[in-house]
Amino acid sequence: MVRMESILGFLKLGFGELGFRKLGLSKCALLVILVLLLPFRAAQAADVTSTLMIGGSRIDVTIQSSDTPNAPLSQTDVMKWVQMAAESVATYYTRFPVPHLTLRIVSFDGTGVRHGMTWGREGGLIVIHAGNKTSMTEFAEDWMLTHEMIHLAFPSMADKHHWIEEGISVYVEPIARIRAGHLTARQMWSDLVRDMPKGEPQSGDQGLDHTHTWGRTYWGGALFCFVADVRIRKQTDNKKGLEDALRGILNAGGDINVDWDLEKALKTGDQAVGQDVLEKLYAEWKDTPVQVDLPEMWKRLGVEANGGAVALKDDAPMSAVRRTIEMGASGSKAAEVGAAAETDVAAAMSPKAVFAGRTARSN
Ligand SMILES: [Zn+2]
Repeated sequence: MVRMESILGFLKLGFGELGFRKLGLSKCALLVILVLLLPFRAAQAADVTSTLMIGGSRIDVTIQSSDTPNAPLSQTDVMKWVQMAAESVATYYTRFPVPHLTLRIVSFDGTGVRHGMTWGREGGLIVIHAGNKTSMTEFAEDWMLTHEMIHLAFPSMADKHHWIEEGISVYVEPIARIRAGHLTARQMWSDLVRDMPKGEPQSGDQGLDHTHTWGRTYWGGALFCFVADVRIRKQTDNKKGLEDALRGILNAGGDINVDWDLEKALKTGDQAVGQDVLEKLYAEWKDTPVQVDLPEMWKRLGVEANGGAVALKDDAPMSAVRRTIEMGASGSKAAEVGAAAETDVAAAMSPKAVFAGRTARSN
């Protein structure tokens, strides 16, 4: 699994997953034109729409026809991909974050998933690009659609607080996929050991509210979520975690369709947990670059790095915390499950995704 942010770096901030969600007026004219065109591109004759029901939520999926004469995207594969991402997010939050999502898949000639964008518009709108040669295995390994759907579950923030929006999506995405049986815990920890150091403050960096580099926005935000998650679990005897705070925010009406102050969101999350971890950590990190001793955290959590792979130890001081990060306080049948058993796991999870119908548009 390769994260596009890792490759594209600053490019991603302009053209990748992040950039279009909330563009300021300072961005160049080209970007503004793309923003206007992409979400409003009208459905064309060959566009295919499907509806996925998950819990009480409805996801309308439009697969936009390619502008080239290449083979079209497989509707079956695309809908399985959408279902896996939706189930992951619904499992983590206990429900899909918004009642109605409009999801537009734009095809290109090639493989992979690129350029995900999420708006608090029409109740929730995601535009994401998928290659017409993408295999089902590649769709199953994709993280980006899950990342975009997690954006639906948090209120829109001021520009200087994008780090919390991205941080939540980066941190929660693999956990949500583990809990739905679509990713292994070992893969997640291996990725986190590799990538989490990118969120540490670099020389000259300030607090999270003041340094808006790619590393501090995506991984600095994820580092904030990770440290908060561990603190909440330590302070609650491992009974609650970051998911309780995030569910509390969502259930108080804090989805992407509303503009909230960060302080209000963190306070709402803390109230849901009965601790003040989020507000305190924000006070510590907002104006000051705080270094985290990640090697010590891995050790205490029982994550042992051996070159590229990791071994997970159950006799470390905080192994139990690591396991509840992976599977939640109540545990889950998906704990040790790899991709092979995902059908069984999906069948065991609630809420389930159900195809509600498929139509080919005629206009
Ligand atoms: Zn994002």
